Amino acid sequence: MITHDILVVGGGLSGLSAALNADPSLSLAIISRVHPLRSHSVAAQGGINAALGNNPKGRDDDWEKHAFDTIKGSDYLSDQDAAELMCREAVPTIYGLEHSGVPFSRFPGGVIAQRPFGGAGFPRTCYAADRTGLVIAHTLYEQSLRKKVKVYDEALVTKLVVENGRCVGVVIYDLATGFITPIRARAVIFATGGYGRVYFKTTNAYVNHGSGIGMAYRAGVALKDMEFVQFHPTSLYPKNILITEGARGEGGFLLNNKGYRFMADYAPSAMELAPRDIVARSIQTEVDKGNGFESEYVHLDLRHLGEKTIDKRLPSVREICIKFAGVDPVEKPIPILPAQHYSMGGIDVDVRCASSLPGFFAAGECACVSVHGANRLGGNSLLETVVFGKIAGREASNYVNGLERKDGSERTLLDEAVAEKEKVDAWMDRTSGKMAHHLLNDLKIVMSDKVGIFRTKKQLQEALDKIRAIREDYRRAFISGQCLRYSQAVVNLVEFGYMVDLTEAITLGALLREETRGSHYRIDHPKRDDANWLKHTLVSLKDGEPEVVYRPVQITKYEPQERKY
Ligand SMILES: Cc1cc2nc3c(=O)[nH]c(=O)nc-3n(C[C@H](O)[C@H](O)[C@H](O)COP(=O)(O)OP(=O)(O)OC[C@H]3O[C@@H](n4cnc5c(N)ncnc54)[C@H](O)[C@@H]3O)c2cc1C
Repeated sequence: MITHDILVVGGGLSGLSAALNADPSLSLAIISRVHPLRSHSVAAQGGINAALGNNPKGRDDDWEKHAFDTIKGSDYLSDQDAAELMCREAVPTIYGLEHSGVPFSRFPGGVIAQRPFGGAGFPRTCYAADRTGLVIAHTLYEQSLRKKVKVYDEALVTKLVVENGRCVGVVIYDLATGFITPIRARAVIFATGGYGRVYFKTTNAYVNHGSGIGMAYRAGVALKDMEFVQFHPTSLYPKNILITEGARGEGGFLLNNKGYRFMADYAPSAMELAPRDIVARSIQTEVDKGNGFESEYVHLDLRHLGEKTIDKRLPSVREICIKFAGVDPVEKPIPILPAQHYSMGGIDVDVRCASSLPGFFAAGECACVSVHGANRLGGNSLLETVVFGKIAGREASNYVNGLERKDGSERTLLDEAVAEKEKVDAWMDRTSGKMAHHLLNDLKIVMSDKVGIFRTKKQLQEALDKIRAIREDYRRAFISGQCLRYSQAVVNLVEFGYMVDLTEAITLGALLREETRGSHYRIDHPKRDDANWLKHTLVSLKDGEPEVVYRPVQITKYEPQERKY
């Protein structure tokens, strides 16, 4: 049986960072559904935050101001010790990336360039034009080749294996051979990314189904703060490809159909650079009031920046707009609308990336440490992946090095793989029922219509009922073909089962949280309520049913205040 000390599931930035920082004397491998460089991390455009103080307007910046902005941006739901840890680590992390070879954009004089981003008191977002995720991922991947990190790509993890209350490996579906087999590991790190594909309108890649989050939940680990779903203000109409916040950071304006910079009515000081939850709601409100175009979108105007700046700082934005909307931002404003973008919630882990299940760790977007609370600031996610990926690699190594009895039993792992294979056989044996794409369509309708930017109790209750009905349909799912090699139908059905679970957790958390905080806007409870709701939501499975408990937020020195921008 294939056995490793540490298995990292996911080849994006968190997975690569974990692999590069694990104890090199241990046997480690990365498993990924796609080649590491096809992970969503490569799509990150705008940048990564650190209080370097390189921008002339950012000389007084320091990590504590970064922590304060992060906590305020989170609407005071982030755990302040975690936010402080991330922001303190940010500066050495950027220099570490630079020394590994990341080609950051530079200011004259040679220092790393920094641009303003939403919700930040100082311009502290380091970038490589608008291809920041791409260059960091390539650099870390090169480092992983240098260190000869073993990678199994095109392998879908279908289940976490637990024995005697300890994580002992995973079951995989190997796409090329069609085999469903176990891999034994002494520690498993999930770096499986977000779940954007449960919505129709999302900036996320097609691989972002969130199955890792669902697998942790099925294995008994709690999901934290799942109701907080980030909608990015500016996705390109009608394709929902991201137009980076860097475009507003460079000075872009948002205009309604009267040519008015409407952010003056919602965030008079920060304007277009208010945090994402506020800007996304403002755009949606303008559209709902009839101030949009074609009842769908508003304009992002970059024309005043000029062709030279656009080509230097936002070359991909220009290319994307021309190719996918036939609009050259040098000449015309860009049609934009909000779309699902990021998951603040995720697998409940502590600041060491450890979960309640011994041997199981998580980092990056799939995890909730929590640094982003109810709303993430742009540029903080790339930072989180590198900082907490590193911590996960080190902590998993310490765990493995301290283990007495090392391996899970072959019997348990094989039994789990057989059970997974039987599930697939049952789908193939059936000759009728619902197919994966129908099921996914049904789920996306519910999430897009009822669990969006604005929420009400009635809508959320209806959503929950529908999600539960869709789960019943899933029990009768079927696959028409019999071939197991590269079966997209198998991949989709495996992932779908986990998507139903995680959407139930999102919706249940949202239904119960009777307040408005960050990205969670309840029309029927439009105020933040610290007296009752300054706490994390934890949803776990108890006897197959979701159970919700709450945990206090860690406050260090930043007392909750009203958020004004
Ligand atoms: C378009 C876009 C632009 C962004 N721009 C920025 C930005 O400028 N700054 C910023 O801070 N943040 C940005 N973000 C957010 C940020 O890029 C992501 O949150 C971050 O890169 C996630 O990294 P990750 O390593 O956690 O996951 P990902 O990069 O999504 O990687 C997930 C990995 O898990 C693997 N995987 C998943 N499930 C399984 C499974 N069941 N079996 C096997 N493998 C599996 C996948 O193959 C993949 O390798 C952006 C996001 C998007 C969508």
